[in-house]
Amino acid sequence: MFEIVIGLEVHVQLNTKTKLFCSCPTSFNHQQNSNTCPTCLALPGALPVLNRSVLEKSVMFGTAVHATINRTSYFDRKSYFYPDSPSAYQITQLYTPIVEHGTLQIDFEDGSHKVIRINRAHIEADAGKNIHEGDISKVDLNRAGTPLLEIVSEPDMRSSDEVILYLKKLHAIVRYLDISDANMQEGSFRVDVNVSIRPKGDDKLYTRVEIKNINSFRFIQKAIEIEVARQIEAWEDGVYDEEIYQETRLFDQSKQETRSMRGKEEAADYRYFPEPDLLKVVVDDAMYETFTQIPELPDEKRARFVREYGMNTYNASVITSSLEMACYFETMMREGISAKNATTWLTVELQGRFSGHVNIENSPVSARTLGVLVKRIEDQTISGKAAKEVLDYLMEHDVSVESVIETLGLKQVSDTGAIEKIVDEILAANADKVQEYRNGKEKLFGFFVGQTMKASRGSANPQAVNDILKSKLS
Ligand code: ADP
Ligand code: MG
Ligand code: ZN
Repeated sequence: MFEIVIGLEVHVQLNTKTKLFCSCPTSFNHQQNSNTCPTCLALPGALPVLNRSVLEKSVMFGTAVHATINRTSYFDRKSYFYPDSPSAYQITQLYTPIVEHGTLQIDFEDGSHKVIRINRAHIEADAGKNIHEGDISKVDLNRAGTPLLEIVSEPDMRSSDEVILYLKKLHAIVRYLDISDANMQEGSFRVDVNVSIRPKGDDKLYTRVEIKNINSFRFIQKAIEIEVARQIEAWEDGVYDEEIYQETRLFDQSKQETRSMRGKEEAADYRYFPEPDLLKVVVDDAMYETFTQIPELPDEKRARFVREYGMNTYNASVITSSLEMACYFETMMREGISAKNATTWLTVELQGRFSGHVNIENSPVSARTLGVLVKRIEDQTISGKAAKEVLDYLMEHDVSVESVIETLGLKQVSDTGAIEKIVDEILAANADKVQEYRNGKEKLFGFFVGQTMKASRGSANPQAVNDILKSKLS
């Protein structure tokens, strides 16, 4: 039996206005090579100047993962030669990173937890982009020099499920802190997965393979499964030592395989040395005091939701998994509704109506409106069924809940006189069934309820219908 061992390196693009060492804008959707200057083009003589807000965001991150924040850290030079790096080196932090020794808790569905250790988080500059068009390749340096925080975990994960839980938690944290937009498709949250296997019970680390830049949670899960299967097969066929060696592999989603990309360089290949063009990095007292004050994070918010709203932990986890969802939920709650109804109407009814690019951030129905809708169910103005019709309408029209109830004529009838009249009609039209019911066929009760609701076009208050039927049938 084998155990899976996984450690992750996540590159998070920090959402600063300008690049790490120059004042070029970080928005790289502009015309190719327009957001560049002598520094990020690495022209001789141009010197880097550190962007202060990168430090601030790094301090926030370190605080969020309970890490040591090194009040003095250093930049180092990592040499490599690619067309997208005009300087032929990357400025990074090898020897003393700004953040070290953190932890991140992942939560399983059964309520248990596990702590994943974070080895370090260091600041580094991104490269540009190679664009291949037919026979020619172009280089766009708009992205060159944008700030990244590389977050390196210890090899503490034991399954692809743990990996996904870790990544989702990490993703939520950087979004909650608002230090990155963490958009995976656009490459501002890039994951490298290091995978090895070992016989269960063995605690030595075996050869790891790195799978680079997989841009969705689903593909990450798939890539791990495929790579683990490859390693186990090699072991079982007795060719592990020949076939599994330290290298970088790519996940090919169409072929469902991982494929060798390049042999992994040893540290010596990079010829690391302290960056001579930059001063040491100092987090002074003022910055430390200010940026270790961070907003409420997912774990705390979840605990507060359980405490304040009496939610179960599972629902609270779902709602706090993204900041947008948590804010939406809390706005709904201001209408004085139950947390259970708010959760259902948000996660099942509203989200179930999203498609394409519609999501919680651009929802056509505002949190306040959905809160009011739930309130109208709770105060029995409309039935739950009618509320679904109202929501369908609200997805298409920007109007108030009250006016939709009016327009669609969905106001629930609680007036017992009106309901009695309908009940009398139903009972008269079904005299045979009434007889059967009185002779003991009690499950016919549901039939009478259904008929009454139908005759009222769903507008009768179900509780009143029940009461009236009971008394008339007895
Ligand atoms: P490098 O700097 O050469 O990439 P590191 O030691 O910093 O190597 O490790 C990079 C990542 O690989 C870390 O996330 C670490 O947890 C993970 N890792 C290291 N050894 C193993 C292993 N045997 N199996 C799985 N992951 C590993
Ligand atoms: Mg690495
Ligand atoms: Zn620049």
